[in-house]
Amino acid sequence: DAFADIDLAEGLTKNIKRCKYVKPTPIQRHAIPIAIAGRDLMACAQTGSGKTAAFCFPIISGVLNDNFLTPVSARGGKVAYPIALILSPTRELSCQIHDEAKKFAYQTRVKIAVAYGGAPISLQFRNLERGVDILVATPGRLADMIERGRVSLKRIKYLALDEADRMLDMGFEPQIRKIVEKMDMPQPGKRQTLLFSATFPDEIQRLASDFLSNYIFLAV
Ligand code: AMP
Repeated sequence: DAFADIDLAEGLTKNIKRCKYVKPTPIQRHAIPIAIAGRDLMACAQTGSGKTAAFCFPIISGVLNDNFLTPVSARGGKVAYPIALILSPTRELSCQIHDEAKKFAYQTRVKIAVAYGGAPISLQFRNLERGVDILVATPGRLADMIERGRVSLKRIKYLALDEADRMLDMGFEPQIRKIVEKMDMPQPGKRQTLLFSATFPDEIQRLASDFLSNYIFLAV
């Protein structure tokens, strides 16, 4: 019942210790082993439950272990090819996830960038040009970047949707669907999708059945 017992990539385990995380929260204890086993997951999680680490740890660990995927995506250039995408409803939440993810990926080769609306897009483009493995983004800004040909989702292997119910409440469903359609790895076993939501109305269930394959439902 400790992070040390979970089989995560070495650099990440070091950073978890550095962050003084010792004991996983309930959502982490259940979600992380399922996710590192490669399964799709729909998880019920409130703010403060530790959900950020619950999807960041498996993604960072996966990116670190997928040596063959990283060099191209992290190389930089005019078009960014992230291998993991974390979608969240707001600028605040995206920045929060970005800050946490950077701590978890500290002194590893994993590059993380953030993109959100209401701020100059040029600055965010410049960050992407340095190379990005994991992109944290709000749906509207990401759709814009894709439209402008600056982000490609062809190499996405990990997709996390955080606060999915809030994203739908904010009217992001069309953008989210457009974004997911751009991913070239929807075949079972290729893209891994982790969906986190506080509530499970019909619209979320529909999203789950459209985006996830053979998923595990987790409510703690
Ligand atoms: P979250 O629900 O992801 O927003 O996390 C809530 C807060 O709990 C954040 O400040 C995290 O840094 C912290 N936290 C998450 N998981 C753990 C853990 N296993 N041990 C200690 N603190 C944690």
